[in-house]
Amino acid sequence: MIPLVKPYMAPREELMPAIEDVLYSGYIAEGEAAWRFEDGLKDFLGNPNILAVQSGTAALHLALLLLNVESGDEVISTPMTSEPTNTAIAITGAKVVWADVDPNTGLLDPESVRKKITERTKAIMLVHYAGMVCDMDEFHKISDETGIPIIEDAAHALGAKYQGKMIGSNSRFTCFSFQAIKHMTTVDGGAIAFSDSNDATPARKLRWFGLDKKVSRLENDIARAGYKYGINNLTGIIGQIQLKHAPEVISKYISNGKYYDEALKGISGVKLVPYYEHTEPSYWLYTMKVEDRENFIKMMAGIGVTASPLHHRSDTHSVFAESRCDLPNMEEWYSKYVHIPCGWWVDEETIGRIVEAIKRGW
Ligand SMILES: *Cc1c(COP(=O)(O)O)cnc(C)c1O
Repeated sequence: MIPLVKPYMAPREELMPAIEDVLYSGYIAEGEAAWRFEDGLKDFLGNPNILAVQSGTAALHLALLLLNVESGDEVISTPMTSEPTNTAIAITGAKVVWADVDPNTGLLDPESVRKKITERTKAIMLVHYAGMVCDMDEFHKISDETGIPIIEDAAHALGAKYQGKMIGSNSRFTCFSFQAIKHMTTVDGGAIAFSDSNDATPARKLRWFGLDKKVSRLENDIARAGYKYGINNLTGIIGQIQLKHAPEVISKYISNGKYYDEALKGISGVKLVPYYEHTEPSYWLYTMKVEDRENFIKMMAGIGVTASPLHHRSDTHSVFAESRCDLPNMEEWYSKYVHIPCGWWVDEETIGRIVEAIKRGW
């Protein structure tokens, strides 16, 4: 079966000697290899204020900590995501407040977000689900008008663009994940990008127990307890090498996605997702709505291709029971959306076969 997700690993001849060098270098903790990966990310994303961290979840948690989100606060978020977006909010003690999605895209609906704002709202969490970019024009307006900061969960959206520039410097915080199945993996890892350079210093401390790496250990004073969220040199070297291949790998996702956008137009039973103005998706998964989804999935399995909705909606978990509310557009979207494979492992022959099968019907 052609899978929906698959880790890309740089060629063995390139990766293994570099890993071996680091492992036996005598310095495997956070050091040069980690920092050079961080520099690479800054170049790639065009933002000088980026910290590499252990996971996407750690990046999200740091963003919330920097905003001092705590019990009694509210964070507006979406149920249409992978669980860590919202468990990261839950661990701060704040209440997740669900806004509804745009039924055409599955992404948060700015109008619904507006209606959910209260004096307790500390942040708006946006998820560029499956690599599609949220309606940033509208969300920036909301943030400017209300002063409520935006956290972008860009775990699915490495390489996606807003106004022609890569996601990663539009909002106060943008969080990336380099977990196994994302566009780029470092086995596990993540990054947090800041639009305000003032956030980088406290974030760096929170990343390392609350200590300041620039001050000697004996002179350090912890004013606020932090976490162990930094990366080690092994993750750093894997990241450096993976990052060299990232442009090519991501461009494969994008060219496959664009191919589907054209080839699947006007097919009965298929409703394609419109992309918001000034946004360019990076197609981590190809996403669309289909009629009779169960049979669609069976038909695709029949040609050896996985088609499936990938994520369980977050709002039905009991940990979020207190947040439950009516989300009619989410109901509509959730009953029809489906993903088909779109990544670097989907070659021309396969993509042609997928399109032909969908055209034949189900
Ligand atoms: C993968 C993912 C995360 C968390 O990333 P980890 O690196 O696994 O902690 C957060 N949000 C979304 C939407 C994800 O898919």
